[in-house]
Amino acid sequence: MRASDVSHALFASTAVALATAVFSFPALAESTSPTTPLKVPALIEPLVSRNLKVVVDTSGAPDCQAWAQRAKEMVELWHPIVSAYLDAPLNPGEKEVQLVFKEMKGVAATSKNVITIASGWVKSHPDDLGMVLHELVHVIQDYPPTQSVWLMEGIADYIRFWMAEPEGQPKQFNRAKENYRNGYRTTGAFLAWIEKQYKTPIVRDANLALRRGTYKDSLFEEKTGKNLDALWTEFMDSLEKAKPEAKRPI
Ligand SMILES: [Zn+2]
Repeated sequence: MRASDVSHALFASTAVALATAVFSFPALAESTSPTTPLKVPALIEPLVSRNLKVVVDTSGAPDCQAWAQRAKEMVELWHPIVSAYLDAPLNPGEKEVQLVFKEMKGVAATSKNVITIASGWVKSHPDDLGMVLHELVHVIQDYPPTQSVWLMEGIADYIRFWMAEPEGQPKQFNRAKENYRNGYRTTGAFLAWIEKQYKTPIVRDANLALRRGTYKDSLFEEKTGKNLDALWTEFMDSLEKAKPEAKRPI
């Protein structure tokens, strides 16, 4: 099994586990003879039947075709899961995700429902399906223009690294340099810690507020009783305390 297959298998198995966790599947009907199609559990039917179309365009990078197919399957699998997790139903007319592969600088970029992916990056990082998941979160976020780009990027990496690719979670933080407003994995780690520590779905709530254009930093205080700076200090302190005894200065 190639490394890329391992990564893909991880995505698939995590998705199934999450689907089971996010939706409590009712028992399937017993009448499942070979001629009877399996009944889709009522809870997930709206997600399956909304007919999301994933369109792939590799005309600008024909050698990305096989990889593009895997990315397409990943998007089909994860779109309903992420949408349900973020409580982000499709807006009317939002029935398609496009994956466009072409030669360009950087990794990928998303504009509305179009994810443009750099063919050079795919060739040099064939295991990096996770970056497509990050971009897919941006499609699902569908925010109006926001000042809180740090939070938008943090939510995208939270979905990527705390739902699909836990091996990519940061192992340590440089307290002098890191801040929750850095976005990406740093903010993702902060959000994951808040959810666990305060038992509150802050990612979903922040996402909904950002989507409605009503987000304010005070949301964190409303949900936890502490403002962002106080929460960050508490998060950093908790990491200090969690360090193994042997590494502490004597
Ligand atoms: Zn991003």
